[in-house]
Amino acid sequence: MAVQSVGVVGAGQMGNGIAHVFALAGYDVLMNDISAEAMEKAVALIDRNLERQVSRDKISAEDKATALARIRTTTELSELGQCDLVIEAATENEGVKQKIFDALLPHLKPETILTSNTSSISITRLASRTDRPEKFMGFHFMNPVPVMQLVELIRGIATDDATYREMCDVVAKLGKTSASAEDFPAFIVNRILMPMINEAVYTLYEGVGSVRSIDESMKLGANHPMGPLELADFIGLDTCLSIMNVLHDGLADTKYRPCPLLTKYVEAGWLGRKTGRGFYDYRGETPVPTR
Ligand code: NAD
Repeated sequence: MAVQSVGVVGAGQMGNGIAHVFALAGYDVLMNDISAEAMEKAVALIDRNLERQVSRDKISAEDKATALARIRTTTELSELGQCDLVIEAATENEGVKQKIFDALLPHLKPETILTSNTSSISITRLASRTDRPEKFMGFHFMNPVPVMQLVELIRGIATDDATYREMCDVVAKLGKTSASAEDFPAFIVNRILMPMINEAVYTLYEGVGSVRSIDESMKLGANHPMGPLELADFIGLDTCLSIMNVLHDGLADTKYRPCPLLTKYVEAGWLGRKTGRGFYDYRGETPVPTR
């Protein structure tokens, strides 16, 4: 049976974008978060982002209204039990994800496909602790979800072909492109991207350049659309640190050691755009470098 209803756990930066693209593609979406406030914010943000698409003639006002009507929210995780596909997009912390799966599993239909949007955690390990490792996959969207074309599909060691094929169909129905990645730490995109961001933080830490000169150098000298520190703020510095730790632990190579300055920013709670401060301070009219 093809997927019709989708449960999204976590209504943060990624959860709201995932709900947005699924609703627009015609799926019924049920979004869950431990924070009712996060869900309210997510729905308001989806409304704004859909409106932007309407004003750019990408979708009609009717498409927007229909998509919004397809999104429901709940603080009860058990209500996601009836969904055909569940996408976990909560905080990048294995303990948090594990607790969500433990609480969700008793309510799931046997045929439901369970996925995680994790940026780095082992899909095989997450899957092995569920009752359905053959129906478990990594489903890795890029940020911002409505804009970015790629979705990484990561098969755990036990994921069966039917589940993989079904997920390829879902990605196609979303109008996106999938890339298959093997289940090794941080998969493809973050295996390459995060060490670059971490190196940019080392470049700052060692005084080779300022926040501005590092970002300008990579934008104008390497043709990157965003500088690496600006991008780190956009992704979330907690997420960046967590991915570096997974690379460091999982590949046991010192070249992946997280920069102490990145750790310091996370310890300060300066997590980037989402908290108003990171390598830049976003609380004023224009972002101001914090170093
Ligand atoms: P975020 O901090 O913006 O949002 C996380 C949300 O999870 C928060 O709203 C939080 O309240 C919620 N949450 C925490 N515990 C929960 C629980 N027990 N039940 C339900 N909800 C819970 O984080 P994000 O950037 O949206 O990242 C979410 C996931 O997506 C992570 O696994 C991350 O690695 C992955 N991801 C992030 C990016 C990115 O650029 N930020 C890109 C791709 C994938």
